[in-house]
Amino acid sequence: MKDVSPVFPKEEASLGIYIHVPFCRTRCYYCAFSTSLYDVAAVERYVAAVRKEIGLWSRNPDLGALLGDFGVDTLYFGGGTPSLLETRQIQALVEACQQAFTFTRCTEMTLEINPATTDASKLRRLCDAGFNRASLGIQSFDDAELAAMGRPHTSEDALGTFEELRQAGFDDISVDLIGGFPGQTRESAARSLSAAIDLGPEHVSVYLIEVKEGSRLEAMIRSGCLPAPDEDLAADIYLDVCSTLSEAGYVQYEISNFARAGRRAKHNLKYWLDQLYLGIGPAAHGMTGHARYANAADLGTYERNVNAGKLPAGTCMDFSPDIRFREALIMGLRLVEGLDLAQLGAHSFWRLSATLSPRASLSCRAITWH
Ligand code: SF4
Repeated sequence: MKDVSPVFPKEEASLGIYIHVPFCRTRCYYCAFSTSLYDVAAVERYVAAVRKEIGLWSRNPDLGALLGDFGVDTLYFGGGTPSLLETRQIQALVEACQQAFTFTRCTEMTLEINPATTDASKLRRLCDAGFNRASLGIQSFDDAELAAMGRPHTSEDALGTFEELRQAGFDDISVDLIGGFPGQTRESAARSLSAAIDLGPEHVSVYLIEVKEGSRLEAMIRSGCLPAPDEDLAADIYLDVCSTLSEAGYVQYEISNFARAGRRAKHNLKYWLDQLYLGIGPAAHGMTGHARYANAADLGTYERNVNAGKLPAGTCMDFSPDIRFREALIMGLRLVEGLDLAQLGAHSFWRLSATLSPRASLSCRAITWH
């Protein structure tokens, strides 16, 4: 077998950081994410705990030196509804990351925003804090559909927030839409897509609805209040989305993601390109090269662990090279470009090398508290 250096090539020595913000104003009917209702005291405790987790990553003797080798090039605040946090709280988390990690090559800082959770001055301060990309969860421009989804905003709110983002200086905006929701028609989906295109976002994500176990949507369908999603209709909507966005100049690069030239989501690409990222915050997932972990989802459990000086991984799966190779294959096949098997093979061989440096990636032993 070809002997490849166990150290990441310089151009790959980058790390993404994902911060999970598990609070929302209300719970959307289709939601199965780990999130709870916004509560002022809980958010303050959350911010303090996440700052501690960031410190734990950087101060851990096994991990800190390794992380120092990587430049952080993407920082992504997802949720939940990160835009519900006060600007000072978001800034505190950004600063904690900047103190703990090497940010010299950070090129993308994204904040997920829900309509009507910000105002112009807050958005300007977030832009000043370094955010250069916003992901706006619009989902639909049809107010009846938004109400049926349990979204706490209107299409007008979405238009207003998009306009404020532009005025604040965000020149890289992604818009999220949902396709195939019960009651949606091919025509109403097309109208929403057309309204999104009219705004001129740099990036569009369209997700077909999934009925998640335990969601209110599942209960509504089971009780007969709503019909189950029509899979044929969803397929038609998806094909319409692909052709309409293509005609509008957006290039599809992943199953659900479309971008103007040079505006692909750098952070999300890490998930599909077998690259490394830390997940920080309750329920956040991370991939360190040798392990995939998920932090404890319960805020109380999460806080207890970080307050005791332990990284809060609730589950952790050590990768064998074989498992990681298969994961990389599955994730990579989501990309329209597909996979370069030769590149993937070369990327994987170093992990198979008997000379693998213990500092080349992190195993569960280094992450879990139990
Ligand atoms: S805003 Fe997102 S995370 Fe929050 S309830 Fe709705 S779908 Fe779930």
